[in-house]
Amino acid sequence: MAIPRFHDLTVSRINPEAAGAVAVTLAIPPALRETFAFDPGQFLTLRADVNGESVRRSYSICCPRSRLAQAHEVQVGIRPMDGGVFSNWAATQLKAGDTISVMPPDGRFGVRRPHALHRVGFAVGSGITPILSIMASTLEEHPESRFTLVYGNRRMASVMFNETLQDLKDRYTGRLTLIHILSRQAQEVDLLQGHIDADKVRAIVKALLPVGSMDEVFICGPEAMIDTTEATLLEAGVPQRQIHTERFTSPTLAALSPVERRAAVAAGQQKTEGGNITLTVVLDG
Ligand SMILES: Cc1cc2nc3c(=O)[nH]c(=O)nc-3n(C[C@H](O)[C@H](O)[C@H](O)COP(=O)(O)OP(=O)(O)OC[C@H]3O[C@@H](n4cnc5c(N)ncnc54)[C@H](O)[C@@H]3O)c2cc1C
Repeated sequence: MAIPRFHDLTVSRINPEAAGAVAVTLAIPPALRETFAFDPGQFLTLRADVNGESVRRSYSICCPRSRLAQAHEVQVGIRPMDGGVFSNWAATQLKAGDTISVMPPDGRFGVRRPHALHRVGFAVGSGITPILSIMASTLEEHPESRFTLVYGNRRMASVMFNETLQDLKDRYTGRLTLIHILSRQAQEVDLLQGHIDADKVRAIVKALLPVGSMDEVFICGPEAMIDTTEATLLEAGVPQRQIHTERFTSPTLAALSPVERRAAVAAGQQKTEGGNITLTVVLDG
């Protein structure tokens, strides 16, 4: 088997998404269509020179599998991380017509039970990307299937791919259930307010997602949310083999000691909280 290597691809579009994120569409020339054939849930590794340094990062493919065959392109969604080198460069500097080095699709997050009738996704923030690809491909490829997405964000305005989600809901009437859990925007129903934590997962399972109805579950988001959601689903009786998780580990953070990593994550959260307070004052003023 050939050793995977980087290929130069042209950026065909950059579309702004919520919270400063961007959807980056890459054109796949005929000679590379087989090389870039992907299973929904897989990721691409992108490499670019940022401030004179070669930096590589992984980003999950967010489009349905059919996009490659029909439009000869693949798409990733990049959300800028506070202080992050590559994500901020991509969100502000990368433009249509640029060339970027990309490794072929990789990763094992994805469908394991091809005949599952009801798939469920739990996502927070940018964790939507691989689940969006799995969801859109499931609905398109299996007319008898349905999908439930539980998606956590601060407010509706920060929901990545909200328009795409609405389009899917309209196209696959009655087959896609969207459950938005918002932490900083008032919701009419208590169940939809707050964070995706153990209590929330228990309450959602009890009210909306009977354990026996979930044929396959996909979880992607912050580390703590993944661990809690998985543990709570196991405790509720969902078999381990039916739960799949994807972690967006940053190589920069992974290289730090556990103490440094905790401090870096806490500092990032504090900065974000501060930013939100300022934003609220401006909007309310
Ligand atoms: C399989 C996989 C799929 C992924 N898919 C996606 C996706 O679809 N969308 C997406 O947006 N992301 C995704 N990611 C995450 C992505 O790969 C990057 O990790 C992310 O964009 C951050 O990269 P960066 O270069 O911007 O940040 P980095 O420069 O790597 O920094 C990360 C964080 O560490 C902090 N930091 C850096 N150095 C230090 C230091 N010395 N001390 C303390 N703190 C420090 C920074 O402030 C920042 O908050 C995925 C990751 C994996 C592994």
